Amino acid sequence: MTHYKSNLRDIEFNLFELLNRQELLGSAPHAELDVETARGMLDEVNRLASGPLAESFGDGDRHPPVFDPATHSVHLPESFARSFRAFMDAEWFRLELPPELGGLAAPRSLIWGVAELVLGANPAIWMYASGAAFARALWELGTQEQRRFAEFAVERRWTPTMVLTEADAGSDVGAGRTRAVEQPDGTWHIEGVKRFITGGEHDLAENIFHLVLARPEGAGPGTKGLSMFLVPKFLVNSDGSLGERNGVYATNVEHKMGLKVSATCELTFGAGRPAVGTLVGGVHDGIRQMFMIIEHARMMVGTKAIATLSTGYLNALEYAKTRVQGGELAAMSDKTAPRVAIIHHPDVRRMLMLQKAYAEGMRALVLYTATFQDAAQLAAAAGTADERAAAVNDLLLPVVKGLGSERAYEMLTLSLQTLGGSGYLQDYPIEQYIRDAKIDSLYEGTTAIQGLDLYFRKIVRNKGAALAYLLGEIMQTARTEHGNGRLKEERAALARAADNVEAMVTAMHGYLGESLERPAEIDRVGLNTTRLLLALGDLVVGWLLVRQAEVAMRALDAGATGTGSGAAGAAGGAAGAASGAAGAASGAAGAASGAAGAASGAAGSGSGATGDDIAFYQGKVAAARFFTETVLPRLAADREVVETTSTDLMDLPEAAF
Ligand SMILES: Cc1cc2nc3c(=O)[nH]c(=O)nc-3n(C[C@H](O)[C@H](O)[C@H](O)COP(=O)(O)OP(=O)(O)OC[C@H]3O[C@@H](n4cnc5c(N)ncnc54)[C@H](O)[C@@H]3O)c2cc1C
Repeated sequence: MTHYKSNLRDIEFNLFELLNRQELLGSAPHAELDVETARGMLDEVNRLASGPLAESFGDGDRHPPVFDPATHSVHLPESFARSFRAFMDAEWFRLELPPELGGLAAPRSLIWGVAELVLGANPAIWMYASGAAFARALWELGTQEQRRFAEFAVERRWTPTMVLTEADAGSDVGAGRTRAVEQPDGTWHIEGVKRFITGGEHDLAENIFHLVLARPEGAGPGTKGLSMFLVPKFLVNSDGSLGERNGVYATNVEHKMGLKVSATCELTFGAGRPAVGTLVGGVHDGIRQMFMIIEHARMMVGTKAIATLSTGYLNALEYAKTRVQGGELAAMSDKTAPRVAIIHHPDVRRMLMLQKAYAEGMRALVLYTATFQDAAQLAAAAGTADERAAAVNDLLLPVVKGLGSERAYEMLTLSLQTLGGSGYLQDYPIEQYIRDAKIDSLYEGTTAIQGLDLYFRKIVRNKGAALAYLLGEIMQTARTEHGNGRLKEERAALARAADNVEAMVTAMHGYLGESLERPAEIDRVGLNTTRLLLALGDLVVGWLLVRQAEVAMRALDAGATGTGSGAAGAAGGAAGAASGAAGAASGAAGAASGAAGAASGAAGSGSGATGDDIAFYQGKVAAARFFTETVLPRLAADREVVETTSTDLMDLPEAAF
């Protein structure tokens, strides 16, 4: 038994019941794949992730990478190296690649489903193993020689880095001072010190290829003046064999709060010997090129956060079913009443259902976002472009990253809380989950940067088109009468929440307009960008939970045909627990519980959902109800805050803080 508890059932539910990804399979560009193969892949990766990959999760934390300043080398624990090899030997990294690079050209949604399993089991493995994804970018952007390099990188399993950050250039990437000096032979010498570089040095692969942002001599300031260079640790001969050691060295490895096995390095370029690089694509277009990598990384970080929350929740759930403490609240005055498992306590149920709703709603957010990447991929394969898909994906990426990381961290504290004092111990994985997940709101752009990106680039610059599309989809769900009116209250809550988010955007547009006359008014926008990001994220999560509930109700109805025993308990232990949770919620969930009971009666005839499925679907309905009842109403308060924002905070002298 490892720490990792996956939720393969829910990944498959999203892919094949909610988002109908099977419609993409079997025809170009995914002709090689059918549903059975896709399910088989997920199953295989799930086994690998829950076993050999998860095995070294704790050990990698307790035995972090060791840096030797004399040799500039970094040694990783053997347990982690073994897990990493197990992943690389299974060659799942090929999912990322186009056929021309020896890949399977899987739909992006399937790739992110697979990614969740690895990222939940041992996130650093996926990060070290992202050579294929980076090679794909290099292959798309690079010169002929760099494309050849990308092929070698895939075949020889070299690992990549993305190199932006410097001591004085964090969120402000454009402040970077690392220089690039062109050489007579057309190569470039990179000079400078970069910090916080993930996977900057280690002993997992024979070569590391760094994609580096640096400023060519004479180039202008800001991000526009940055170019992207390919700088390998070892120079590479034309046959792919390793040449000389290049002049890029690790000069420090950070001691971190979490995610310790992922080596975070200071890299020094061009001290002592030249750090030779080539200009990617032979063009000075660094920030646009790097954004291809950044977008991939942001999606990865959101998926990592959500994957961690999911296993945190499932660990907490298991504990809550077995830990006996106290009696039922209803029997408070009876000292002889039987002691019960803590899942019987209302406050524990509140914590569990909030974790479940966020874990499952944000998983849906990741995979829903991936459907727009699927559409873009499909269009590209047909030689066209799907601009709307690209714009909606752009809109959702900061939400996946920003909301995913913030809410996952917040909810993981509830996972720990569910275990009481035991959660604080290293006997359970949750304290490590919390430490490992904290980084997600920081790297690849902090939440503040995601909020600014969402409002200014993805809403204002896009003239609100992608947002209007998304809100339109949400309102369509809110207005439809599926489910025989059983989701009426959920839909009404959704409509109110969408209205509140729209009003926030309108107020912020107002401040933006006023700033044309009085520039300081823009601060009223800046005081609210993170609030908007979280509110929009909660709205989308609520919407996707309602859509999941619709699917679940249909499945329950299909199973219930012709029967009506209402005996949810017949579905067995797991179903019994879930039925209790559903029962705690009123109205629609209660109706679902009745339907579920009926479905359980029909299950034996093979016409519908089986026992475990019933519990699963009941849980979906309950999660939608709980989230729309207890989380979405908070958006009304957020709206009020946005609409009444003043610049007082900005006028306050620093000394008053
Ligand atoms: C473990 C780890 C791994 C990393 N891996 C990589 C990597 O592989 N490659 C790489 O290039 N970098 C990497 N980074 C760097 C990471 O991307 C930066 O740390 C991050 O972008 C924030 O920059 P900073 O740390 O300098 O914080 P700062 O930019 O100094 O930010 C400090 C605070 O100020 C806020 N802030 C800053 N500017 C603004 C603004 N304009 N508006 C509102 N708020 C603002 C931030 O949100 C934050 O809360 C990594 C960092 C860590 C810790």
